[in-house]
Amino acid sequence: MVRRVSIFGATGSIGQNTLDLIARAPDEYSVVALTGARNIDQLAADAIRFGAEIAVTCHDELLGDLRTALAGTGIEAAAGAEALVEAADRPADWIMSAIVGAAGLAPGFRALRQGTTLALANKESLVTAGPLLMAEAARHGARILPVDSEHSAVFQALVGEDMAAVERIVITASGGAFRDWPLEDLPNATLAEASCHPNWAMGQRITIDSASMFNKSLELIETREYFGIDPARIEVLVHPESLIHALVGFRDGALMAHVGPPDMRHAIGYALHWPDRRHLPVERLDLAAIGQLTFRAPDEARWPALRLAREVMQTGGLAGAVFNAAKERALDAFIAGEIGFTRMAEVVEATLNGLSGELAASGGGFDLEAVADMDHLARERAGAEARLRAA
Ligand code: NDP
Repeated sequence: MVRRVSIFGATGSIGQNTLDLIARAPDEYSVVALTGARNIDQLAADAIRFGAEIAVTCHDELLGDLRTALAGTGIEAAAGAEALVEAADRPADWIMSAIVGAAGLAPGFRALRQGTTLALANKESLVTAGPLLMAEAARHGARILPVDSEHSAVFQALVGEDMAAVERIVITASGGAFRDWPLEDLPNATLAEASCHPNWAMGQRITIDSASMFNKSLELIETREYFGIDPARIEVLVHPESLIHALVGFRDGALMAHVGPPDMRHAIGYALHWPDRRHLPVERLDLAAIGQLTFRAPDEARWPALRLAREVMQTGGLAGAVFNAAKERALDAFIAGEIGFTRMAEVVEATLNGLSGELAASGGGFDLEAVADMDHLARERAGAEARLRAA
């Protein structure tokens, strides 16, 4: 049976890896919607190559360019935030959510209404609105499959297991670009230095988030939301080789580790073929040649983001939305050269503290509108905090 698939964030690193897998079995898939933002050439080229029904950019002003690029192909072109959400209504058997940032929440949330399978790379959705997403999936009989490598690893280690037997979940972190830098050099780290990951080829934003461990801090929250485990039983372990992606510890003392090459096509392919395992074009590890794997405890002085994530989980409610929005705004400021590398964590912490009254007033329950409002407030506040710390 031909499966109808849509990819949100098709022009990005995850989106391109997904298309790479689909291109290897073109008869098995029919591409429905592909979406992107600024990379119109890539979006149009892929829409034509895969015979998509519709291509969507989130930027209204780029609709003309997209239409021109698709002229004469019969492929629909659309633009804007609403068009993005509407594309998630198009019937599809499998939908990849790989937009970067909080912008991925609305289309992913909408896709669940179809009762379909949502392959979720966009971790920000779970960090900002995890309980809403899970409830929406349950309401419509939809399935959310993890694509983040650590969560895919945990998911795989849990096959056939009972969550009640799980003592702890350990997610690994490479340590990113500055793992071995002297602490005193971190304030002067440049954008180019922060944008080089030692092991993974990923989009620029997640690569910088790996250097600051904001990526891992989002993943801590993501772990709690996916697997419903007490935050005290989630650990982060620095593992520079990035070959073990996660471990699950059971009450009998067993630790089940997921070992694989640092290639996102594994986790994407697992979500694409689940519950089957199919051949995937990833490297086969030669452990004898690798020789040894190393581990160390994370240093919270180097990576304050980890402490902040734990505080956010303790606060609960909309704290995840504040944390993510402040992080995204601080990252914008770092990329724009407005603040130094270590200022990002300061901006996020100051934003969380500055909005503690609003967070307390918002209570535990919330809806998507409250998430959007808090996101907006946090971006404004983080912008002000970044200006105070401008280089
Ligand atoms: P990229 O930056 O490579 O790609 C992001 C995608 O989102 C692109 O298609 C981009 O379009 C689009 N986009 C950017 N801004 C917007 C917006 N405001 N509205 C709609 N679309 C937008 O990111 P990655 O592929 O690296 O990451 C995607 C998601 O997957 C993130 O949530 C990340 O945390 C997660 N993830 C990524 C991993 C990786 O290996 N890359 C690993 C695990 C998780 P365009 O390019 O046209 O501008």
